[in-house]
Amino acid sequence: MELEYSADHEAFRRMLRAFLENNRARAPRMRTFASGVVDPALLGWQKLLIEHGYAARGVPREYGGAGADPDPLIATIIAEEFAQARLSRGVSGQGLDMLVPTLLEHGSEEQKRRYVPPTVRGEMLWCQGYSEPGAGSDLASLRTRGRVEGDTLVMDGQKIWTSTAQFAQMMFALVRTEADAPKHAGISYVLVPMDTPGITVRPLKTMTGEAEFNEVFFDAVRVPLENLVGKRGEGWKIANTTLRHERNMLGSASTSVKLFESARSTMRENRVDGRPALENPVLRGRLMALQAKTLAMKCHAMRLLTCQLRGEAAGVAGLVTKLNGCQLNFDLAGLAIDALGEAGILYRGGAQSSEATRWQFHYMFQLGLIIGGGTAQIQKNIIAERGLGMPREPRPAVPDPDAR
Ligand SMILES: Cc1cc2nc3c(=O)[nH]c(=O)nc-3n(C[C@H](O)[C@H](O)[C@H](O)COP(=O)(O)OP(=O)(O)OC[C@H]3O[C@@H](n4cnc5c(N)ncnc54)[C@H](O)[C@@H]3O)c2cc1C
Repeated sequence: MELEYSADHEAFRRMLRAFLENNRARAPRMRTFASGVVDPALLGWQKLLIEHGYAARGVPREYGGAGADPDPLIATIIAEEFAQARLSRGVSGQGLDMLVPTLLEHGSEEQKRRYVPPTVRGEMLWCQGYSEPGAGSDLASLRTRGRVEGDTLVMDGQKIWTSTAQFAQMMFALVRTEADAPKHAGISYVLVPMDTPGITVRPLKTMTGEAEFNEVFFDAVRVPLENLVGKRGEGWKIANTTLRHERNMLGSASTSVKLFESARSTMRENRVDGRPALENPVLRGRLMALQAKTLAMKCHAMRLLTCQLRGEAAGVAGLVTKLNGCQLNFDLAGLAIDALGEAGILYRGGAQSSEATRWQFHYMFQLGLIIGGGTAQIQKNIIAERGLGMPREPRPAVPDPDAR
């Protein structure tokens, strides 16, 4: 493995570092749309980042991106430098990180022109309508129906755990359009404006105290058929493209490195038994164990990068990132809370509060990410079966309709 960057890549890194230093004051504090209020500073920052090729870098110019050739090393340098500078990477979330790459791969020209530019600018917020009360890990069991009437799709059913649905203008959703087809074959992928009559959104409060996700009900919701992405009944393949991007977004090595540095600062600055927490042997031992895991995540990311540069598919190695990264981030937050002593149990809610309450928020939020995007158990099953060649777990028996 070649660990040195080329002279051109190092020059890019210097240019980016100077940009971040010179523009630090323009960066927004708030990185997400958590409150539903679009921060104008974030939109301005996103525009600046795209102009310089530091955001939406691989998105073609005609769809509002920076239009640069894909270069995984440049992408890595960008992630490293923003993490190092502790500055916002601009707009992120299900629209830009999951839907945009899906539309670029499978969308029609009209869909790309209509939806990608406002999403890239951060002006169009999306939510993901996949999970249902009876279909989470076994997503293909979903039952929300899509009935075709002329050139319209009429949707009836319910989604659940839909993050940001209360703020989103659009949803990308999975619906069953062919009731008689085998379960993976009868699913379509559709883009749904959230202000369509017949949609009801009910926020669900999580243990963070905030309503991060929702139940969404569809009662005869009429959507034009042209909003289908790909062909009718062929949505499962497209859904999996989106899931691949979701797993890449969750548990990245650069996030863990940033959280590790932050936990170490917390331990340096807070005292336990009259001495910095970093000098407490038990806490220090835990930090070192997590440092080893963080380094392992970095090496794993380099391995994936090498695969990418060689044009090889990463296979289940990509799932290892989500599985280990989310668990590691959760453990880092737990350690920081313990290092804060009594202050660690304070929680006023929200990511913007003081240091102690920030760690409480991270702890609960990261626990959610171990479940979201496919639970840890499901990732382990896939890694074991497809990666390690272990036997498939027994499938539940199909009930005999004649049995009493
Ligand atoms: C923070 C957060 C945000 C989310 N955002 C969204 C969103 O925006 N849109 C959306 O559509 N969904 C979202 N989800 C839902 C998420 O995708 C599902 O929660 C997840 O897929 C698990 O499904 P479930 O909740 O129905 O649990 P179940 O599938 O019912 O699983 C329950 C438990 O059983 C285990 N289990 C299930 N099957 C197996 C098996 N075969 N082997 C071993 N163990 C198994 C699971 O690991 C889990 O521990 C979000 C979830 C969270 C936590």
